Amino acid sequence: MFGQSIKLFDLLGFPIRIDASWFLIAGLIVWSLTTGYFPQTLPGLAPMGHLALGVVAMLGLFASLILHELAHSLVARRYGLGIGGITLFLFGGVAELNDEPKSAASEFWIAIAGPAMSGALALLAGLIAAALPDTGVLAVLVGYLAAVNLMLALFNLLPAFPLDGGRVLRAWLWHRSGDLLAATAKASGTGVVLAFGLMGLGLLSAISGGGIGGVWLVMIGFFVLTASRGAYQQLLVKDGLRGRHVADLMTTNPHMAHPGMRLDALVEQVMLAHAISFVPVIAEGQLVGQIDTRMVQATPRVEWGQRDVASVMAPVDPDCVISPQMTAQDALARLIAGPGRKLIVVDRGVVCGVLSLRDLLGHIAVMQALGGVSHSVRTGKAIAPPVRKPMLRQQP
Ligand SMILES: [Zn+2]
Repeated sequence: MFGQSIKLFDLLGFPIRIDASWFLIAGLIVWSLTTGYFPQTLPGLAPMGHLALGVVAMLGLFASLILHELAHSLVARRYGLGIGGITLFLFGGVAELNDEPKSAASEFWIAIAGPAMSGALALLAGLIAAALPDTGVLAVLVGYLAAVNLMLALFNLLPAFPLDGGRVLRAWLWHRSGDLLAATAKASGTGVVLAFGLMGLGLLSAISGGGIGGVWLVMIGFFVLTASRGAYQQLLVKDGLRGRHVADLMTTNPHMAHPGMRLDALVEQVMLAHAISFVPVIAEGQLVGQIDTRMVQATPRVEWGQRDVASVMAPVDPDCVISPQMTAQDALARLIAGPGRKLIVVDRGVVCGVLSLRDLLGHIAVMQALGGVSHSVRTGKAIAPPVRKPMLRQQP
C-alpha cells in the first residue's frame, strides 16, 4: 500500500511501520508547536525548551495514533481478521486489514474501537491536565495531548467512508438492508460530499488568511475523496469476481503456435486471422514459450518469411502460468502485479486457456450491467455456484 515504509517494532504481534511521508508531517508538527503553540502558552520558557516540548508532543501524537490503530487491530483480530500491521503516514495512521469484515456487527465494533480509544485517551489526559497546576509545563503538554486525541476521535467519526465514522455508517446501513454493496455506495457517497465540504472549507480558510491550516484541510478532503471512491470501486471489482475461477472466465482453446512456424504464417494465420496479439508456443504438447506482436514487430518485416517462431519467442515466465482452479480475484492480483498482461492457463501440463485483464473486466462490466452484483452480496452467495471446487491450487 505504501512506497517506502520502515518497520519500527512489533506491538502485541502487530508490526508498526512508518511511511516516509510521516517524517514530513512530524517535522511540520514540531515546527508549528515550537514556533507557535508553545511560545504562546509557555512564554517564560527558552526556545530550546519549546523545541524539546515540541518533540515530546510529536512523540505523544505518534503514540496516540498507534494506540488508535491498535484498538482497531485488536478488535479485528478478535473477529478473526488478518491484520497486515499498522502504518503511520502523511494523514495519520492506518491498520491494514487483510480481509473485509464479515458482518455488519464486526464492521461496527472494529470501526468504533479507534475513536473510542482516542476519546478515552482524551478524557484521561484531560483529567490529568485538570489535576495539575495550571501554568506548569506538564499541564500544557498533557492538555495538548488531550486536545489532539479529542480531535482524532471527532475527525475520524465524520461519516465519510472509509474513515471510521463512514464505516460505522456503512455497518448501520448494511445491518438495516443486508446489502453490503448498496451500503458502501451510500457511505462512500456521503464521503464524497464531505470531502468536497472539507476542501471548500479549506479553500475558504486559505483565502481568508487561514494559511497552512486551510491548505491542510484541502489536502485531507482530497485524500478522503480518493479513498472514498477507491474503496467503492475496489469492492465492485472484488464483488464482480466473487465465486469465480479462472476456468469460468478464460478464453478456452486458445490459438497456439509451434516453434517451427514461420513468422509470416503466424501473423497471417493466427494473429490477424483471429485478432489476437499473444500466442503460447507448444511443442509435443508442452508449453515451450510465448510470442506476442511486440516480439514479431521487433523483427524486420523482410525477415518474416525466413525466421521461425523459435528464434523470436520468449521463454514462459512461471509467474504467467496459472491453474484453471485459481480464483478470479487471485488471477486479477497476478495480472496487476505480475510481469505479463496475459496469463497462460495450464491444467495437468496441458495448455487449456489464456486469461487477460480484458476477460476479467468484461465479466465485471456485464455483472454490473445486470445489476446482479448486489443480489449476490445480499444472499451471501455468487449468482451461479462456482463451477468446481479447487482440487490442487496453484502456488502463488
Ligand atoms: Zn480509526
